[in-house]
Amino acid sequence: MIITSETEMMQLGQSFAEQLNFPAVIELVGDVGAGKTTFTRGLAQGLGINEPITSPSFTISKRYAFTDSNGRNRELIHYDFYRLNDPGVMSDELSEALNNQDSIIVVEWGDEVANILPTSKIKITISQNDDNTRTVDIIIPKCSEQIL
Ligand code: ADP
Ligand code: MG
Repeated sequence: MIITSETEMMQLGQSFAEQLNFPAVIELVGDVGAGKTTFTRGLAQGLGINEPITSPSFTISKRYAFTDSNGRNRELIHYDFYRLNDPGVMSDELSEALNNQDSIIVVEWGDEVANILPTSKIKITISQNDDNTRTVDIIIPKCSEQIL
């Protein structure tokens, strides 16, 4: 699909949030500035998170608590492994997060942790076109429980 603006990318994230089941893992693939964090911002908005979503580049991970439509406590966990040469401790934290049934996990630059991401992960690839639009490809594995 073609996404023509930042707003549209936010809307895509938002509509994604409305259809996700728990737990969910979303891997975002794309160059710097592709729109991975922008998508995550929209997703967070759709999940009802009011806190501003900032890129976790320096902290590697950020967690945002929210309650779902049934009033249950849930968590969005946003990872960015861009600056990480050796995932070490962070991959332990990620493994633990992956066991959390109440989480939506978003991973940017997940190559170094690819071996611990579940096969049920949703993979979204964003590429920048010359006219500043973005081409977005979404892969939802058959084995995934998600109904999107
Ligand atoms: P990433 O996390 O992939 O490095 P960001 O989401 O932080 O990228 O940044 C994307 C930048 O590109 C933002 O400044 C956003 O305003 C801009 N932008 C321009 N056009 C688009 C578009 N069609 N979709 C998403 N972002 C866009
Ligand atoms: Mg980013």
